[in-house]
Amino acid sequence: MKLKDFRWSTGVFLILSPIGAIAALSYYFYYDAFQWPTVVFAVFMAFATGMGITAGYHRLFSHKSYEASAPVRWLLTFFGAGALEKSVIEWSHDHRNHHRYVDTDTDPYSINKGFFFAHIGWLFVKRGTNGRAKVDINQVKDLWADPFIRFQHNYYTAFGLFVCFLFPGLVALAWGDFWGGVLIAGLVRVVVVHHGTFCINSVCHSIGRQPYSHRHTARDSWISALFTFGEGYHNYHHEFPADYRNGIRAWQYDPTKWMIWTLSKLGLTKNLIRMPDEKILESKLEIKSENVTPEKQPELALSRQEFTQAAQEFRQARKAYQAAKKQSGASSELHKSFIEARKSLMQAYNEQKAAIKLALSASAA
Ligand SMILES: [Zn+2]
Ligand SMILES: [Zn+2]
Repeated sequence: MKLKDFRWSTGVFLILSPIGAIAALSYYFYYDAFQWPTVVFAVFMAFATGMGITAGYHRLFSHKSYEASAPVRWLLTFFGAGALEKSVIEWSHDHRNHHRYVDTDTDPYSINKGFFFAHIGWLFVKRGTNGRAKVDINQVKDLWADPFIRFQHNYYTAFGLFVCFLFPGLVALAWGDFWGGVLIAGLVRVVVVHHGTFCINSVCHSIGRQPYSHRHTARDSWISALFTFGEGYHNYHHEFPADYRNGIRAWQYDPTKWMIWTLSKLGLTKNLIRMPDEKILESKLEIKSENVTPEKQPELALSRQEFTQAAQEFRQARKAYQAAKKQSGASSELHKSFIEARKSLMQAYNEQKAAIKLALSASAA
C-alpha cells in the first residue's frame, strides 16, 4: 500500500487511542483518581456500545435476523455510533460483502491477507484504493430507507464523537466527574470495544473449532465469545447468518442473544429467526462424516436414512404445533407429539453419530 492510500483520520485515531488510553489509566491509577460511579458507567457504556454493534449493526441491520421496535432501533443506532466503527451504512455495507465474498480478495477483511490486516489493517486503507470498495448505497438500500440511519450516516463524525466522548462526559458530570466520563467511559472504553469487536474478524477466523462447516475460515470458540459480546461462535454464524443467535446452546455465552430474546418477551423485538434444529444437526453430521472413506459409506446408509426420516417427522410436528399455537394456543396433544418427535430426532442423530465414529475408527485401525 502506498502512503497516499493511507486513511489518515482513521489510521491516526486507531494508533493514538490505545496510547492515550494507557496514559489515562496510568494517571488514574497513579493518582488513585477513579470514581466508582464512573467505572460502573464505563462498564455500562462498553456493553451499550458493544451491543450497539453486535445486536444493532450486526444482527439487526446487516443480517435482519429479527425485527425491532423504533425505540430499540434508535437506541442501537445511537449507542452503536459511540463504538466509533463508522455508520450503520458503512459497517453493514462492508459486513454484507464479508459474508458474500468471505476469504476472497473481495472480502473487505479477509483473513487470508493476514491476522493484522483482518483485525485492524484493513481500516487503514482509503476507500476506492487497493481493492477496498467504495460504499455502494444500492447494497444497503433497505437501511438507507430509515431516516435516523441516514441522519447518523450523513453526520457521522459529529454524531460518533458526541456519543463516544461528550455523552459519557455529560452523564458523569452528574456526580462531578466530567473528565472521568470522557477518558474512562469514553476513551478507555472505546479502545476495549474496538479491539473486542475487531477480534471477530481476526481471532474468530483463526482460533477454534469448525463444527458446522469447512467452507470458510470462521471458527467457534467460547474464549473469543467472552470478549466479543457472544460473537465467538463464528463458524455457526457464517453457516447460518440469518439466525439471531451465535451461541445456540442455552449455556453458551452470547449476551447479545439473551438481550434480543429478553426484549422479545417485553414486546420490543419480534420475529426472531432461528435455524430449524434438524438443519443444524444435518450440518454437524455432514462435517463428522467428511473423512469416512467411500467403502465405509454404505455402513452409514441405514442410520442416515433413519435420521432423514426423523427430521421430516420433526419438521411436520413442529409446523402443526406452531400453526396451532398461532391460532388459538396449541393443544397439549400437539405439544406432546412435538416433544416426542424431537426426542426421536436426537436419538436418530446420536445413532448416526455413533455409526460415523465406528466407521472412522475402523478405517483408522
Ligand atoms: Zn466473519
Ligand atoms: Zn455476520
